[in-house]
Amino acid sequence: MKTCTSCLLPETHETIEFDENNKCNICKAQDYKKTNIDYEKKKIELDELIKKYKGKYNYDCIVPFSGGKDSTYALYYIINNLKLKPLVIRFDHGFLRQNLEDNVKRCQRKLGFDMITFTPNWKIVQKLMLRSFLDKGDFCWHCHTGIFSYPMWISIEKNIPLIFWGEKQSEYTAYYSFDDEEEVDEKRFNRFINLGVTADDMYLRLNGEVEKRDLLPFSYPHIEMLKKIKSKSVCLGSYISWNPKKQSELIKKELGWKGDEVENVPPEYDYEKIECYMQGVRDYIKYLKRGYSRPSHLSAIDLRNKVITKEKAKENIKLYEGKRPYSLDLFLKFIGLNENEFSEVIKEHVVSPNKFSNIKNENAKKPHDFDQWSKEGKANRDFSNKTFKDWKSNL
Ligand SMILES: [Zn+2]
Repeated sequence: MKTCTSCLLPETHETIEFDENNKCNICKAQDYKKTNIDYEKKKIELDELIKKYKGKYNYDCIVPFSGGKDSTYALYYIINNLKLKPLVIRFDHGFLRQNLEDNVKRCQRKLGFDMITFTPNWKIVQKLMLRSFLDKGDFCWHCHTGIFSYPMWISIEKNIPLIFWGEKQSEYTAYYSFDDEEEVDEKRFNRFINLGVTADDMYLRLNGEVEKRDLLPFSYPHIEMLKKIKSKSVCLGSYISWNPKKQSELIKKELGWKGDEVENVPPEYDYEKIECYMQGVRDYIKYLKRGYSRPSHLSAIDLRNKVITKEKAKENIKLYEGKRPYSLDLFLKFIGLNENEFSEVIKEHVVSPNKFSNIKNENAKKPHDFDQWSKEGKANRDFSNKTFKDWKSNL
């Protein structure tokens, strides 16, 4: 596959394009950010924005929060630097890990804030994961949509117009340029968050298996409702420079935030994606579909920031990508597929010119907390009397 001469990302990366020297548009956007974005000016814009909301509502803003590095840093900055009183909203996708819960607890004690956690019905989540995986080769629809839409409902319900998200999408893809304000609205939601499937579409796809109201936490509120509260939903990363590596060092020091081991991720990146025990499967699926996964993504960021060499990046990619994760067995039990069926589904979603045959016959290391991961809630599919095709067509 063709790869970027600067960051090594392959041509199967979302929105990537190459110039005549094979340098990619994501690298160029980062060059642009470093030379053209005036963060001093942006900080003044941020202060002006805050003035409009501070002290005028029961809470100054909403902060959607997973407990991962980006939202923890955002929350730290909002309370510590901006001196705002946030309402923190947490969407529990079903796969939170113990170390993350401990981080959240420490963060609550050190910073002090009110928090609401919402956990959707597991039985519905299971159906959504299966449908989304079969149709899109990506099982995380409930998580993508829930994380971005649920806090919007709370903002309406509690009349808190200002919402602060973490990093801009333009850090990693070219759906938006750095000059775009990148308001976190329905347009952005439909552009790359929801896999092109709205809650109404999902309702039809599920063919009577759930009620319409079951999908409300995953649906984007109507624009008129948001206009009524004068909703303003923005990325903190539009106003301050975003550097995950430095920010995770800071939250480790200031909040006692701890990194964790993640399947198929080199240990020096212990700050990345520690919030979900299905992360190993998600990255494995990406590897099978696109021929690369998280070590490539992390190396690309480090190469652009000139903190690793290409040799080290290539070594990490070779050593960590594409090994069969422990979480795969759990995933298959949760959605009721066997591994051959899993492969059949992935084959339909392989991104050219990657080939499915790139599969490695190696297992990843068993994660230290694997035995703690909840294995409750397996799908009760009857494998005995139907072929996969028949079963799938009747779903
Ligand atoms: Zn690049």
